[in-house]
Amino acid sequence: DSVFSHVVRGPEDPILGVTVAYNKDPSPNKLNLGVGAYRTEEGKPLVLNVVRKAEQLLVNDRSRIKEYLPIVGLAEFNKLSAKLIFGADSPAIRENRITTVQCLSGTGSLRVGAEFLAKHYHQRTIYIPLPTWGNHTKVFNLAGLSVKSYRYYDPATRGLNFQGLLEDLGSAPSGAIVLLHACAHNPTGVDPTLDQWERIRQLMRSKGLLPFFDSAYQGFASGSLDADAQSVRMFVADGGECLAAQSYAKNMGLYGERVGALSIVCKTADVASRVESQLKLVIRPMYSNPPIHGASIVATILRDRNLYNEWTIELKAMADRIISMRHQLSDALRARSTPGDWSHIIKQIGMFTFTGLNSKQVAFMTKEYHIYMTSDGRISMAGLSSKTVPHLADAIHAAVS
Ligand code: PLP
Repeated sequence: DSVFSHVVRGPEDPILGVTVAYNKDPSPNKLNLGVGAYRTEEGKPLVLNVVRKAEQLLVNDRSRIKEYLPIVGLAEFNKLSAKLIFGADSPAIRENRITTVQCLSGTGSLRVGAEFLAKHYHQRTIYIPLPTWGNHTKVFNLAGLSVKSYRYYDPATRGLNFQGLLEDLGSAPSGAIVLLHACAHNPTGVDPTLDQWERIRQLMRSKGLLPFFDSAYQGFASGSLDADAQSVRMFVADGGECLAAQSYAKNMGLYGERVGALSIVCKTADVASRVESQLKLVIRPMYSNPPIHGASIVATILRDRNLYNEWTIELKAMADRIISMRHQLSDALRARSTPGDWSHIIKQIGMFTFTGLNSKQVAFMTKEYHIYMTSDGRISMAGLSSKTVPHLADAIHAAVS
């Protein structure tokens, strides 16, 4: 008998499990709108041209070796990643007040940041928006933080519950950590306006709340890397401290390369360097040091003006295709006179539409139309194409009629 015979089967991941179910469906019309990965108009995964070019340069460079990276990763990658999110002219960068360490994509960056906070920060409570990306609670709990939520989404307006957000952050204990989606909030597609960000900043700074930005979609929301980093830059411009987790999964299409960065903005260069020494003590026993390939691709692109420009064009094309899918789906529902107000499809931002469909309607669409999505009614607009919009619109129409 196995020493593991008592082990019970764990549940499938609520997001990745959608793909497992999709793969088992033999229907030729099946459609996977669950996972947040970009697809072309032909429904195919996309490797950016600029990434292929960077990889070619790396392959042709015979001096390249496969040695270990340092614990904190590739130094040039870290520097360029900080510039990308904080801005090339950021005083905090110039003053060496930021430590940036290469981590395993966005998830790994969140985890390393959370482990550091659990060990070295006086407040162990982190507030996350309601709802949020499903993995946040698990990442922060396992790192040893206590997770609470703040109101974010208002189902009645399908927009931001700004009043509720201010009330909940206003009554959070002083010093508490607050997880903020830098842009393209997942799953709701609802972001604060710049004026609202400013109010949030003032409130958080007045209460000494510590911002932890999750930036998984820089460039994907608006098509502009700078516009999508505005929220983060506002909080750095005031001279205060914060954390930021960056992912290159979506904006460079490097999902499986697991390349990202954690930055901690500190008051002084001296604090930043001591913080970095402790980040190394978090990372070393966890995975020793990060992988070299993805970080080399990113550094090759970010350091070269031409490749960088090419990247911004390809990134904008992905963002524009997603926005065009929003318009096509909205038009298709209008053409069918589908009951209800669907204007949020166009108003929401980023990879997802939070449709407002409930779990019963989602189950109906999966059963009758072979359309797969998370049970909260979130659909990945990046998984849609002109060819599949009518099928989705038919399904939504049938589900709500
Ligand atoms: N944070 C948010 C809000 C996300 O949506 C995702 C991915 O879906 C991530 C973080 C982490 O992604 P990755 O670890 O693949 O970079």
